[in-house]
Amino acid sequence: MRKKIVAGNWKMNTLPAEGVELAKGVAAGRNEVCDCVTMIVCPPFTHIHSVVESLKRSNVEVGAQDCATEVKGAYTGEVSAEMIAALGCKYVILGHSERRQYYGETSETLNKKMSRAYENGLTPIYCVGENLEEREAERHFEVCKSQIEEVVYNLTEEQFGNLVIAYEPVWAIGTGKTATAEQAEEIHAYIREVLRAKFGAAAEECPILYGGSCKPSNAAEIFSKENVDGGLIGGAALKAEDFLAICKAF
Ligand code: PEP
Repeated sequence: MRKKIVAGNWKMNTLPAEGVELAKGVAAGRNEVCDCVTMIVCPPFTHIHSVVESLKRSNVEVGAQDCATEVKGAYTGEVSAEMIAALGCKYVILGHSERRQYYGETSETLNKKMSRAYENGLTPIYCVGENLEEREAERHFEVCKSQIEEVVYNLTEEQFGNLVIAYEPVWAIGTGKTATAEQAEEIHAYIREVLRAKFGAAAEECPILYGGSCKPSNAAEIFSKENVDGGLIGGAALKAEDFLAICKAF
């Protein structure tokens, strides 16, 4: 059976003390969520240490929102995968559409980041998804396919066995507009087919999360679909109560 995962992407929100409070709130409700759900919070780099400390023994994992392409050295402002792993992160979000859009991340960049993540024992949460124009032109299948072929197809079988994919239609991120459960299932099933073409039966084990205005009121319906294995949550992850309600939607 595939892992169920709900990950909260806090983006550039919360000050350190607020982040710790939020993490504690999430940990406080952990026992109300099925053990079968892996819960992850992804705070800004500046709070990773204090959030990891506050989540010790909580069974809530911590991830980073990005990592550097390079191993170490003269790269001002960058944070390496090794640093993130040393702080206690188990996961790293890579290829989020905001990184692709605002910071020019390409498949070339992401191939390097994926390598750094695996070298340091981190599980990448690799994001794919089309923008509004591409959806309207019915190019969403081909966009997701190439985002997978250009990066995920370069992984070894072992690396692929330790990968999470997040399908996030850009038009649904932070807009309040959600893909319908049917739209999500259609493309998740397609993504799994693309994975199967390269990795065969191992594709059945790869968790594919939905992200884009997922909230307590729509999570259960979206998560009920066969190929939706959880969610990557932005706005609704900033309130412990909402994040927990989403985690309980399974
Ligand atoms: C995200 O950016 O990963 C996301 C899903 O954001 P939101 O839930 O706010 O749409």
